[in-house]
Amino acid sequence: MVSTVVAPRPSLNTPSTPAPELVGLAVCPSCHTQDRSMTNLAVSAGADWQCSRCGSRWDAVRLAAVAAYDLWVSERTAASVHPATHARGDV
Ligand SMILES: [Zn+2]
Repeated sequence: MVSTVVAPRPSLNTPSTPAPELVGLAVCPSCHTQDRSMTNLAVSAGADWQCSRCGSRWDAVRLAAVAAYDLWVSERTAASVHPATHARGDV
């Protein structure tokens, strides 16, 4: 009889790391490809990189613009589909 050995899982409650997104790899907002040679930390420090997949060039300014646009779109989308903008129960 073989007992099942449960592999140790990575700790779920990892000690708080400072801004995990900053230590990760930079990701192209267009095609969501990680660049293996570029970290978010480097980007935030002023570096730029060219996506190896779609060829887009990115730097902190462009990323901020895209992030702001995404936020704007999601806010608009949320507002347009939100039923609370219409009075309910009143035909
Ligand atoms: Zn890309």
